Amino acid sequence: MSSGQPRDGQIRVIIIGAGLGGCAAAMAMHYQGFHVTVFEKIKKFLRLGDSLGLGENALKLLKRWGLHEQLVKIGNRSPNMNIRRWSDGKILATQPLMDMAGYIGHRGDYHQAFLDRVAELGIDIKMGHNVISFNEEKPSITLEDGREFEADIIIGADGIKSQTRELVLGFADKPKSSGYACYRAYFKGDILRSVPQCQPILERDCVNIWIGPDTHLVQNTLRDGEEFNWILTHKDDEDIQESWFQPGDMNKVRESIKDWDPMIVSAVNETRECLDWKICYRDPIPTWVSKSHKIALLGDSCHAHLPTSAQGASQATESAAVLALCLKLAGKGNIPLATRVYEKLRFERVRQAQLNGEDVRDRWHSCLKNLEEGKEVDPEDVKMKNRWLYVFDAEKETLEKWDRVSAIVKKELAEGKVTPLFDSSTGPTRNLELYDAYGNRKADTKLIPKKQQPVTAVH
Ligand SMILES: Cc1cc2nc3c(=O)[nH]c(=O)nc-3n(C[C@H](O)[C@H](O)[C@H](O)COP(=O)(O)OP(=O)(O)OC[C@H]3O[C@@H](n4cnc5c(N)ncnc54)[C@H](O)[C@@H]3O)c2cc1C
Repeated sequence: MSSGQPRDGQIRVIIIGAGLGGCAAAMAMHYQGFHVTVFEKIKKFLRLGDSLGLGENALKLLKRWGLHEQLVKIGNRSPNMNIRRWSDGKILATQPLMDMAGYIGHRGDYHQAFLDRVAELGIDIKMGHNVISFNEEKPSITLEDGREFEADIIIGADGIKSQTRELVLGFADKPKSSGYACYRAYFKGDILRSVPQCQPILERDCVNIWIGPDTHLVQNTLRDGEEFNWILTHKDDEDIQESWFQPGDMNKVRESIKDWDPMIVSAVNETRECLDWKICYRDPIPTWVSKSHKIALLGDSCHAHLPTSAQGASQATESAAVLALCLKLAGKGNIPLATRVYEKLRFERVRQAQLNGEDVRDRWHSCLKNLEEGKEVDPEDVKMKNRWLYVFDAEKETLEKWDRVSAIVKKELAEGKVTPLFDSSTGPTRNLELYDAYGNRKADTKLIPKKQQPVTAVH
């Protein structure tokens, strides 16, 4: 149980941040029998964000924690999605939604479902509690009001601007521009009811993606047109802030897509307001765990994804399951073993999900640019290839690898020399491993070229 005082011998867990990652960690830890307290700096959550994908890899774990039907109901019910040419809407490829982003729903609705389940389990979320410092050794956290709370392990699920990450790294590395930004709008479908040209994409749940040179637009219609969302990704040539609240200039958006397929132009033209969101990423870091081995990162604080990976929340959920199971297997007296096995088990998997997102973005943005005169697009060149990520069972894999990886970690801890997650002279891999739809590894890999703007720091 998580409410009340911890029982004798029970592992005490503090989680910083009650986003989707923090909530998933709270559920996973609770189900392993630990005493969990979550500290969240926001006083009250709003329905923020827009479309977010939850893949089967996350759903199978969430189901074990009693959260499934509630989530499926939130997601898009369309069986397929279409990838279209920007200029005329010609369908270049059609693929099952479940091979792509999984269940795409409103982030705020998913977040609320996660929060409700955490509350149902009796896990204490302390809202309006801003964590400002840490004691690594105890370990403990201190709040803005000076109160200190101690636990056996502290988990920093505090998002892309994570403070815990700074502690783990020993210095501040700011989120960086990916070179792209999105205009994003989510609104009631009513305002489109009288627009004849967009009726085909308003009448029932559907997902369409228009691709063009260095740009793409994702459209998501939910609840048979009750809610409508579009996200236009474009080259980031302005120094906007990384913020979920930065308003976008609708005149600029309308101007930038005026020559596009009239079906989506008609919907964008009617849109009253949008956000301008800089897509930021964080470089992979050589460790996810503090020097004392008792403070660990999880979710966007250590493995933010591009939107085209459609895996940010799903990978955070996998990390939650793996860390909880490692803690269970290692036991209360052996937290360092758990955290160090956790980072080793997670790093490569997460890296592949990140690279997969870069690959799809690059394919979408270059496919029409590189097309020879008179040639048709090969549908395989523009499909999202996420199916292999979904067959994975994070808990099963942890059980299978525990003996081997924990033996390595025990040796490293005994020698006082933990191997970094990647070689700093080469950096993390940029080779995307290729899998078939059943999750079987193919022999070859694909090099994903680094494609970033000269780095603009954001805050
Ligand atoms: C406002 C918002 C909107 C988003 N919209 C989308 C979307 O539309 N589509 C999409 O795919 N992804 C979206 N994302 C990203 C997506 O939610 C994440 O990639 C994924 O859910 C994993 O998130 P996380 O829990 O690791 O981090 P986050 O969701 O960022 O959660 C981190 C939490 O930690 C809290 N926190 C931070 N610092 C402290 C502190 N010092 N003390 C206490 N609490 C702290 C924050 O308030 C926050 O609630 C959004 C994220 C945010 C924050």
